[in-house]
Amino acid sequence: MSRARGAAAEVIGRLAPSPTGLLHLGHARTFLGAWWSARSRAGQVLMRLEDLDGPRASQRFGDAALRDLEWLGLDWEGTPSVQSAHLERFAAAVERLLAEGKAYPCVCTRGDLRTAQNAPHAGDKEPRYPGTCRGRFATLAEAERTSGRAAGVRLRVPAGELTIDDAVFGAKKYDVAAEVGDFLIARRGGAPAYQLAVVVDDAAGGVTDGVRGADLLPSAARQWHLQAALDLPHPRYAHLALVTDEHGARLAKHADALSLAELRERKVDPRAVVRWAARTLGTPCDELASARELVPHFRLTERAAREETAGRALVESLLSPASG
Ligand SMILES: [Zn+2]
Repeated sequence: MSRARGAAAEVIGRLAPSPTGLLHLGHARTFLGAWWSARSRAGQVLMRLEDLDGPRASQRFGDAALRDLEWLGLDWEGTPSVQSAHLERFAAAVERLLAEGKAYPCVCTRGDLRTAQNAPHAGDKEPRYPGTCRGRFATLAEAERTSGRAAGVRLRVPAGELTIDDAVFGAKKYDVAAEVGDFLIARRGGAPAYQLAVVVDDAAGGVTDGVRGADLLPSAARQWHLQAALDLPHPRYAHLALVTDEHGARLAKHADALSLAELRERKVDPRAVVRWAARTLGTPCDELASARELVPHFRLTERAAREETAGRALVESLLSPASG
């Protein structure tokens, strides 16, 4: 499944926007960071639209994301890949894990899992899966026949801690079995889960470096287990702290005022966005500069681990970039 690697030093990064809304300044910073990280080591950059998020994903947002990123001065090798165009790749990985006993069918509903949950964790977004269906069914077909329900598929997560050695956040320990439990790799009805799609597509593209938002740091641990189960290499990771608004809330995709589409419309100089992103990641940048001009100067410092704010004041400074 994984493409043969070229020279040992080859770097392959990727930009993976979800076409579920307009990209905003936080995305600009993360994608610039990912692009600089690869290009500053003469690496390749792949573009992947992660459009598996059901009805929320749309081609309109996908097209807008590509335009936004081109406006920022980013480029990539080949044509963008679209996850929904190669579902068979994900199905094959799930079948293989089932056949090897590394995954198992699960027929639990959300309701079942809520009842199984302990009271102190009742407010958690994602309860730990208690392992109800582990060893319960021999095959997916049997699970569906016996229960009369569509079955999802969960990875059998081995017990114990692992360390994700992140280029920005350092060594982070996770115990996925204790914190999350056996997590879904295919939803009921067969759609691939996010973690599986990312791992399979990263491997298919030969991705060596995953640079993305810090909200995905815990996902790196889950993906590590999946990579191990599928005998795939583990990419290097660098997670970049998120950008929040003036009130400390994460920039939502509906925050149109801070969307890149809106900034383009208002004739903001993209180099002003580039300069802001560079500085807030730790790359020195005094004059206005294009993304490409900053490639030789790129570095990530501890600033990349510090949350940044993007609000009205930033937009105003971007509208008059000379004063920046
Ligand atoms: Zn279950």
